[in-house]
Amino acid sequence: MTFPLLTSKALSQAGFSHGFTTRLGGVSPPPYDALDFAVLRDPALLRENQARLAAAVGFDAGVLHQAMQVHGATLLVAGGDPAATLALDADALAAEPGTGHAVAVRVADCVPVLLADPSTGRVAAAHAGWRGVVADVVGASVRHLLAAPGAGTASGLVAAIGPSIGPCCFEVGADVADRIVSASSPSARDRRVGDKAFVDLRAAVRAQLRALGLADDAIDDVPGRGPSGCTRCERERFYSYRRDGDASGRLLGVIVAR
Ligand SMILES: [Zn+2]
Repeated sequence: MTFPLLTSKALSQAGFSHGFTTRLGGVSPPPYDALDFAVLRDPALLRENQARLAAAVGFDAGVLHQAMQVHGATLLVAGGDPAATLALDADALAAEPGTGHAVAVRVADCVPVLLADPSTGRVAAAHAGWRGVVADVVGASVRHLLAAPGAGTASGLVAAIGPSIGPCCFEVGADVADRIVSASSPSARDRRVGDKAFVDLRAAVRAQLRALGLADDAIDDVPGRGPSGCTRCERERFYSYRRDGDASGRLLGVIVAR
Protein backbone atom coordinates (compact mmCIF):
# COMPACT_ATOMS: atom_id res chain seq x y z
CA MET A 1 0.00 0.00 0.00
CA THR A 2 1.38 3.39 -0.90
CA PHE A 3 0.79 6.11 1.64
CA PRO A 4 2.37 9.34 0.43
CA LEU A 5 3.18 11.58 3.34
CA LEU A 6 4.69 15.02 2.81
CA THR A 7 7.30 15.90 5.41
CA SER A 8 9.50 18.79 6.46
CA LYS A 9 13.26 18.32 6.42
CA ALA A 10 13.69 20.78 9.29
CA LEU A 11 11.19 18.96 11.55
CA SER A 12 12.65 15.57 10.62
CA GLN A 13 16.18 16.73 11.40
CA ALA A 14 14.95 18.00 14.78
CA GLY A 15 13.59 14.51 15.48
CA PHE A 16 9.85 15.17 15.29
CA SER A 17 7.46 12.61 13.80
CA HIS A 18 4.99 14.52 11.65
CA GLY A 19 3.41 14.74 8.23
CA PHE A 20 0.98 16.39 5.85
CA THR A 21 -1.42 14.03 4.10
CA THR A 22 -2.47 14.07 0.46
CA ARG A 23 -5.77 12.61 -0.78
CA LEU A 24 -3.99 9.35 -1.69
CA GLY A 25 -3.73 6.15 0.35
CA GLY A 26 -7.12 5.99 2.10
CA VAL A 27 -10.43 4.16 1.83
CA SER A 28 -13.02 6.95 1.35
CA PRO A 29 -15.22 6.67 -1.76
CA PRO A 30 -15.73 9.45 -4.35
CA PRO A 31 -16.08 12.37 -4.21
CA TYR A 32 -14.02 12.26 -1.00
CA ASP A 33 -11.51 9.73 -2.34
CA ALA A 34 -9.51 8.57 -0.81
CA LEU A 35 -7.85 9.80 2.40
CA ASP A 36 -10.53 12.06 3.85
CA PHE A 37 -10.19 13.24 7.46
CA ALA A 38 -13.47 15.19 7.70
CA VAL A 39 -14.92 14.31 11.09
CA LEU A 40 -18.63 14.20 10.33
CA ARG A 41 -18.69 11.49 7.64
CA ASP A 42 -18.55 7.67 7.85
CA PRO A 43 -16.85 6.89 11.21
CA ALA A 44 -15.57 3.44 10.15
CA LEU A 45 -13.86 4.86 7.06
CA LEU A 46 -12.42 7.70 9.14
CA ARG A 47 -11.04 5.24 11.70
CA GLU A 48 -9.32 3.27 8.94
CA ASN A 49 -7.84 6.44 7.39
CA GLN A 50 -6.62 7.51 10.84
CA ALA A 51 -5.13 4.07 11.53
CA ARG A 52 -3.17 4.23 8.27
CA LEU A 53 -1.93 7.70 9.14
CA ALA A 54 -0.89 6.64 12.65
CA ALA A 55 1.05 3.69 11.23
CA ALA A 56 2.76 5.83 8.60
CA VAL A 57 3.74 8.66 10.97
CA GLY A 58 4.42 6.47 13.98
CA PHE A 59 1.99 7.25 16.80
CA ASP A 60 -0.81 5.49 18.66
CA ALA A 61 -4.10 6.22 16.85
CA GLY A 62 -5.74 6.49 20.28
CA VAL A 63 -3.83 9.69 21.08
CA LEU A 64 -4.68 11.67 17.94
CA HIS A 65 -6.03 14.96 19.27
CA GLN A 66 -8.08 17.39 17.19
CA ALA A 67 -10.59 20.14 17.95
CA MET A 68 -13.64 21.72 16.31
CA GLN A 69 -12.11 24.40 14.09
CA VAL A 70 -13.82 27.78 13.99
CA HIS A 71 -11.26 30.12 12.31
CA GLY A 72 -10.23 31.65 15.62
CA ALA A 73 -7.04 31.79 17.68
CA THR A 74 -7.83 29.59 20.69
CA LEU A 75 -5.21 26.98 21.61
CA LEU A 76 -5.91 23.82 23.62
CA VAL A 77 -3.36 21.55 25.26
CA ALA A 78 -4.01 17.93 24.30
CA GLY A 79 -4.89 15.53 27.07
CA GLY A 80 -7.70 13.28 28.22
CA ASP A 81 -10.20 11.75 25.83
CA PRO A 82 -9.62 12.81 22.19
CA ALA A 83 -13.38 12.52 21.57
CA ALA A 84 -13.99 15.18 24.22
CA THR A 85 -11.34 17.48 22.77
CA LEU A 86 -12.94 17.15 19.35
CA ALA A 87 -16.12 18.75 20.72
CA LEU A 88 -14.24 21.90 21.80
CA ASP A 89 -13.75 24.99 19.64
CA ALA A 90 -10.05 25.64 18.94
CA ASP A 91 -7.81 26.25 15.95
CA ALA A 92 -4.54 25.30 17.59
CA LEU A 93 -3.53 22.33 19.69
CA ALA A 94 -0.36 21.73 21.66
CA ALA A 95 1.08 18.50 23.03
CA GLU A 96 3.25 18.14 26.12
CA PRO A 97 6.72 16.58 25.95
CA GLY A 98 6.99 12.92 26.88
CA THR A 99 3.32 12.18 26.23
CA GLY A 100 3.59 10.83 22.69
CA HIS A 101 0.42 12.77 21.95
CA ALA A 102 -0.26 13.66 18.32
CA VAL A 103 -2.00 16.94 17.50
CA ALA A 104 -3.59 17.60 14.13
CA VAL A 105 -5.51 20.17 12.11
CA ARG A 106 -7.82 19.54 9.15
CA VAL A 107 -7.59 21.70 6.04
CA ALA A 108 -8.88 22.09 2.50
CA ASP A 109 -7.17 25.33 1.29
CA CYS A 110 -6.44 26.83 4.73
CA VAL A 111 -2.80 26.66 5.90
CA PRO A 112 -1.76 23.86 8.27
CA VAL A 113 1.18 25.01 10.42
CA LEU A 114 3.26 22.59 12.48
CA LEU A 115 5.56 23.94 15.21
CA ALA A 116 8.15 22.31 17.43
CA ASP A 117 10.49 23.35 20.22
CA PRO A 118 13.57 21.11 19.93
CA SER A 119 14.74 22.12 23.40
CA THR A 120 11.65 20.66 25.12
CA GLY A 121 10.00 18.30 22.63
CA ARG A 122 6.78 20.31 22.90
CA VAL A 123 4.76 20.75 19.68
CA ALA A 124 1.76 22.61 18.28
CA ALA A 125 -0.44 22.43 15.19
CA ALA A 126 -2.41 25.44 13.94
CA HIS A 127 -5.18 25.90 11.37
CA ALA A 128 -4.70 29.25 9.62
CA GLY A 129 -7.05 30.39 6.90
CA TRP A 130 -7.25 34.11 6.25
CA ARG A 131 -9.41 34.56 9.33
CA GLY A 132 -6.89 32.63 11.41
CA VAL A 133 -4.09 34.80 10.04
CA VAL A 134 -6.02 37.91 11.05
CA ALA A 135 -6.91 36.40 14.47
CA ASP A 136 -3.19 35.48 14.92
CA VAL A 137 -3.56 31.78 15.63
CA VAL A 138 0.12 31.44 14.63
CA GLY A 139 1.16 33.93 17.31
CA ALA A 140 -0.98 32.17 19.91
CA SER A 141 0.80 28.91 19.09
CA VAL A 142 4.32 30.32 19.17
CA ARG A 143 3.66 32.23 22.40
CA HIS A 144 2.35 29.05 24.02
CA LEU A 145 5.53 27.15 23.18
CA LEU A 146 7.74 30.01 24.41
CA ALA A 147 5.84 30.39 27.70
CA ALA A 148 6.10 26.69 28.60
CA PRO A 149 8.50 25.36 31.25
CA GLY A 150 12.03 24.90 29.89
CA ALA A 151 11.13 26.55 26.61
CA GLY A 152 13.84 27.55 24.18
CA THR A 153 13.97 30.83 22.33
CA ALA A 154 11.94 31.82 19.27
CA SER A 155 15.05 31.58 17.10
CA GLY A 156 15.34 27.91 18.07
CA LEU A 157 11.79 26.92 17.06
CA VAL A 158 11.13 24.91 13.92
CA ALA A 159 8.03 25.31 11.72
CA ALA A 160 6.51 23.73 8.64
CA ILE A 161 3.85 25.33 6.43
CA GLY A 162 1.82 22.65 4.64
CA PRO A 163 -0.26 22.30 1.46
CA SER A 164 -2.70 25.18 1.07
CA ILE A 165 -4.27 27.39 -1.57
CA GLY A 166 -1.65 29.37 -3.49
CA PRO A 167 -1.52 32.99 -4.67
CA CYS A 168 -2.41 31.62 -8.12
CA CYS A 169 -5.93 30.84 -6.84
CA PHE A 170 -6.66 32.69 -3.61
CA GLU A 171 -8.71 35.65 -4.74
CA VAL A 172 -10.32 37.82 -2.08
CA GLY A 173 -11.94 41.24 -1.82
CA ALA A 174 -9.60 44.23 -1.44
CA ASP A 175 -10.84 44.73 2.13
CA VAL A 176 -9.95 41.16 3.11
CA ALA A 177 -6.53 41.52 1.48
CA ASP A 178 -5.96 44.71 3.51
CA ARG A 179 -6.78 42.89 6.74
CA ILE A 180 -4.43 40.01 5.89
CA VAL A 181 -1.62 42.41 4.97
CA SER A 182 -2.03 44.45 8.14
CA ALA A 183 -1.87 41.24 10.21
CA SER A 184 1.22 39.97 8.39
CA SER A 185 3.19 41.76 5.69
CA PRO A 186 2.75 43.56 2.35
CA SER A 187 4.41 40.49 0.81
CA ALA A 188 1.16 38.60 1.45
CA ARG A 189 -0.59 40.59 -1.31
CA ASP A 190 0.51 38.87 -4.51
CA ARG A 191 -1.33 41.17 -6.96
CA ARG A 192 -4.36 43.42 -7.31
CA VAL A 193 -6.99 42.81 -9.98
CA GLY A 194 -9.64 45.54 -10.03
CA ASP A 195 -11.36 45.60 -6.65
CA LYS A 196 -10.00 42.13 -5.85
CA ALA A 197 -6.60 40.84 -4.84
CA PHE A 198 -4.75 37.56 -4.91
CA VAL A 199 -3.21 36.70 -1.56
CA ASP A 200 -0.30 34.44 -0.64
CA LEU A 201 -1.33 32.88 2.67
CA ARG A 202 1.96 30.99 2.95
CA ALA A 203 3.82 34.29 2.73
CA ALA A 204 1.48 35.75 5.37
CA VAL A 205 2.16 32.87 7.77
CA ARG A 206 5.90 33.02 7.12
CA ALA A 207 5.90 36.78 7.80
CA GLN A 208 4.07 36.21 11.08
CA LEU A 209 6.54 33.50 12.12
CA ARG A 210 9.49 35.74 11.19
CA ALA A 211 8.00 38.66 13.19
CA LEU A 212 7.69 36.31 16.18
CA GLY A 213 11.42 35.64 15.96
CA LEU A 214 11.72 32.37 14.05
CA ALA A 215 14.70 32.00 11.74
CA ASP A 216 13.87 32.05 8.03
CA ASP A 217 15.68 28.77 7.39
CA ALA A 218 13.81 27.10 10.26
CA ILE A 219 10.51 27.58 8.40
CA ASP A 220 9.88 24.92 5.75
CA ASP A 221 7.40 25.20 2.89
CA VAL A 222 5.92 21.75 2.22
CA PRO A 223 5.81 20.56 -0.53
CA GLY A 224 7.20 23.89 -1.77
CA ARG A 225 6.15 27.32 -2.93
CA GLY A 226 4.24 28.09 -6.11
CA PRO A 227 1.57 26.11 -7.95
CA SER A 228 3.19 22.78 -6.99
CA GLY A 229 1.97 23.37 -3.46
CA CYS A 230 -1.48 24.77 -4.31
CA THR A 231 -4.42 22.69 -3.12
CA ARG A 232 -6.80 24.17 -5.70
CA CYS A 233 -4.44 23.61 -8.66
CA GLU A 234 -3.53 20.03 -7.76
CA ARG A 235 -6.74 18.01 -8.02
CA GLU A 236 -4.91 14.67 -8.06
CA ARG A 237 -3.06 15.27 -4.79
CA PHE A 238 -5.11 17.64 -2.69
CA TYR A 239 -8.60 18.50 -1.53
CA SER A 240 -9.77 22.07 -2.11
CA TYR A 241 -12.90 23.68 -0.74
CA ARG A 242 -12.68 26.51 -3.27
CA ARG A 243 -12.59 23.98 -6.10
CA ASP A 244 -15.00 21.32 -4.83
CA GLY A 245 -17.17 22.98 -2.17
CA ASP A 246 -19.11 20.50 -0.03
CA ALA A 247 -17.70 17.63 -2.11
CA SER A 248 -14.23 18.35 -0.72
CA GLY A 249 -12.51 16.03 1.71
CA ARG A 250 -10.06 17.22 4.35
CA LEU A 251 -6.28 16.94 4.49
CA LEU A 252 -4.48 16.59 7.79
CA GLY A 253 -1.32 18.12 9.24
CA VAL A 254 -0.11 16.16 12.26
CA ILE A 255 2.87 16.33 14.64
CA VAL A 256 3.83 14.20 17.64
CA ALA A 257 5.36 15.44 20.91
CA ARG A 258 8.86 14.10 21.37
ZN1 LIG B 1 -3.47 27.45 -7.57
